[in-house]
Amino acid sequence: MAKRDYYDVLGVSRNADQAEIKSAYRKLAIKYHPDKNPDNKEAEEKFKEAAEAYEVLSNPEKRQRYDRFGHSGGASGGFSGGNMNMEDIFSQFGDIFGGGGSPFESFFGGGQRGGRRVAKGTNLRIKVKLNLQEIAKGAEKKIKVNKQVICTTCDGSGAKDKASFHTCRTCGGTGTVRRVTNTILGQMQTTSTCPTCNGEGVEISAKCPVCHGDGLTRGEETISINIPAGVSEGMQLSMSGKGNAAPRGGVPGDLIILIEEIPHETLKRDGTNVIYDLYINFVDATLGTSAEIPTIDGKAKIKIEAGTQGGKILRLKGKGVPEVNSYHKGDQLVYVNVWTPKIVSAEEKELLERLRNSPNFRPQPGKNEKTFFERIKEYFE
Ligand SMILES: [Zn+2]
Ligand SMILES: [Zn+2]
Repeated sequence: MAKRDYYDVLGVSRNADQAEIKSAYRKLAIKYHPDKNPDNKEAEEKFKEAAEAYEVLSNPEKRQRYDRFGHSGGASGGFSGGNMNMEDIFSQFGDIFGGGGSPFESFFGGGQRGGRRVAKGTNLRIKVKLNLQEIAKGAEKKIKVNKQVICTTCDGSGAKDKASFHTCRTCGGTGTVRRVTNTILGQMQTTSTCPTCNGEGVEISAKCPVCHGDGLTRGEETISINIPAGVSEGMQLSMSGKGNAAPRGGVPGDLIILIEEIPHETLKRDGTNVIYDLYINFVDATLGTSAEIPTIDGKAKIKIEAGTQGGKILRLKGKGVPEVNSYHKGDQLVYVNVWTPKIVSAEEKELLERLRNSPNFRPQPGKNEKTFFERIKEYFE
């Protein structure tokens, strides 16, 4: 029988990359695996043919030789073609499926050797938007999520009724089968997941008409999520068991909550601190005043001392955001900016001109006046 082109065997194009080749072979290896096709000569041939094609195309040197010379392989001889035994083929699986051994263990067995497999529902991801108040205090959010829920018609069993739900006859309910394979090197015994029931140990002869055997339907659930104080943008919380339900009574997946921050109109969050830019005119800075400013808890009055320099930072202790799962709480920092008028009337100009050369208006920074950088350093060290 003439050999088929290796690219045709795997069903990939001649310029397929390694990832495509690997993925194509993985699919064929699962489809034609002898454990899934007991006593099926044709499947075994296809299984070997795919293994051989993969063996050549996954090796850059062999692939190049095959591209130039075809199946003969040129001067350095043909390929191992047709001589691959089951042992060789299975030894490729470490590479293909990761972790070696039978692919069905790593693929369907969930790492549990033997025994019944427990299905796991998939994780569900949702985004939750929080404003600064909610972040500072923590929040309880009730969120309606659309997800896979247990089918109420069959109670999640996937079966039409009790009579159509029975122990798997292939594996007797254990979820695994032992197989003895004759290879050139002798008999090999492998334990793998039961192909009839996919390791679940039960068989369903008539499926539930609503969920078609999965035991799952789409549904809605309102979930109450407790968000601790101090979370920040991009943080993920997870609630185990609140994700999608699992097929036929397995373990549900997790709910992953991604935090999004809604920016505050006037307060800027900086880690656990909250920053507010206050603008006062130089008369208030000179004579002192009081100002009403926003905080996380609402408005607060602060006192501006007479002779306050622009750039001063006032600290409202404990008015910031707490650190997650900690007793530490940040502060609110008020940056005092002294506003310089850009436009002045003739009258204002006259007043200012009279002050211009007044001795007290001449800058006289003393030892006690910290420079801008010193102040910044002081607050952020
Ligand atoms: Zn159902
Ligand atoms: Zn079974």
